[in-house]
Amino acid sequence: MATYTKVLKEKCISCGACAVSAPDIFQYDDDGLAESILDSNKGQVEVNEDLLDDLEDAEFGCPTEAIVVQDTPFEN
Ligand code: SF4
Repeated sequence: MATYTKVLKEKCISCGACAVSAPDIFQYDDDGLAESILDSNKGQVEVNEDLLDDLEDAEFGCPTEAIVVQDTPFEN
């Protein structure tokens, strides 16, 4: 099953947790808000299977539920 992710930036409080849990998926933009580096936070590029454990850690570690995950590409 494919997996896609992005950050709902309006919910991000820049806590820093996700880039620790999943540094190959999440980093910060110029405003300090997290974003997916896989595809400029569009959520349309499939997350590599090797990164799914990191993604799960980041998703469940996010205090504001800003990280969203689904099995189809996000519409933008
Ligand atoms: Fe933002 Fe959530 Fe990442 Fe914290 S864990 S930086 S609130 S997306």
